[in-house]
Amino acid sequence: MICKPVEEGGLGIHDLVDVQESLFMKFGWKLISGNSMWSEFFQKKYLRREHVYKAMQMKKGSQFWKGIMEIMPKIIQNSKWLIGNGNINFWMNRWIGSEPLQEVCPVIGRNDLLLADVVDERGPNIDVLRNLVLPDILHQICEAGVRTKDRPDVFVWEHSLDGQFTTKSAWKLYKKCGVPCEWKKWLWLDKIPKKMSFLCWRAKRGIVTTDDVIQNLSIPLASKCNCCIAPNIESLQHVLCEGSNAQMVWKYFANISQIRLPHIRNWKRMMSFWWQRANKQSQAGWIRGMLPIVITWCLWKARCSARMEGVPFQVKAIIRLVKIIMKDVSYNLKNFQVVKENERLVMEELNIPVASIKGKKVTYVKWELPTRGMVKLNVDGGARCNPGEAGGGGII
Ligand SMILES: [Zn+2]
Repeated sequence: MICKPVEEGGLGIHDLVDVQESLFMKFGWKLISGNSMWSEFFQKKYLRREHVYKAMQMKKGSQFWKGIMEIMPKIIQNSKWLIGNGNINFWMNRWIGSEPLQEVCPVIGRNDLLLADVVDERGPNIDVLRNLVLPDILHQICEAGVRTKDRPDVFVWEHSLDGQFTTKSAWKLYKKCGVPCEWKKWLWLDKIPKKMSFLCWRAKRGIVTTDDVIQNLSIPLASKCNCCIAPNIESLQHVLCEGSNAQMVWKYFANISQIRLPHIRNWKRMMSFWWQRANKQSQAGWIRGMLPIVITWCLWKARCSARMEGVPFQVKAIIRLVKIIMKDVSYNLKNFQVVKENERLVMEELNIPVASIKGKKVTYVKWELPTRGMVKLNVDGGARCNPGEAGGGGII
């Protein structure tokens, strides 16, 4: 569970097996693409004059080397060669299609044939190729306009913009995708101290040391909560939501935040209820997103102080502490375009300064005719980042 990504409700701690795998991929990538001393050393020591594709079949070498060779098929599947002077293996390097040619048709003649032997700067030598590959592959080679160029061949990774291998993209490629967790939007906010988010994460999984959890571990224990005058059995639900004092705290802040709170006895449902009414577009929306985490933490802190230090469990003190923390975490929230009157009241009640209104910036945009011979492609400005990937379409 802790190795799952944060988006899926885990803690995003990397699984060491995955980490090792992506590091082996990095070494493998360097071995094929690099011209460093490191890759030269390994190529000479282990590959000698063999192609890496052949070396993969041999199960020899150190644990480290075997690890790299085991991962090599994944590197080959996700990378390809951009043809330069054609100094790459015709059969074993992936330069056309989705796999090396020897995977899709039988090797005829020398297996150390270079691409430059059958393709030159004018294009493929069809007479020779006709005797080597199947007709549909020959057709594919002609269609692709394969020709050599006066520059070195380049090995590119297909999952990054610049063709360079990154362990992050490799890790993403192979991690198992799970169901996104609906709490991800609010649970790990930068503004909220991690100890508070972490408490909520633990409470969600039921791993907070309340009496009922200890009893469930078959440890005999007489339970009495610290939050009520008339004693109750202490459970997570009781301390954080169901207990009469916890209910008073939740109701108090729901009133302030202008939320009509129904009678909710389940803590997880309480959190979801608040977050369904939260948004990141307004200051009051942010406050509704942060409040449930802070309330949960203050309720738990009060319970621990009552149990460990004998400090009386007081609703007033909890409310005061929530307000102090909220003022702290709301400091320096981004500026918002509009602040409604009712939102102003929420801030006033919580003694939080209203975030100043962002002035609208007007930019003058004019379309200009491109110079003769040039084609202008207009996009709507939607891109992943600037500069970054963007989609487009048109008729030329
Ligand atoms: Zn109680």
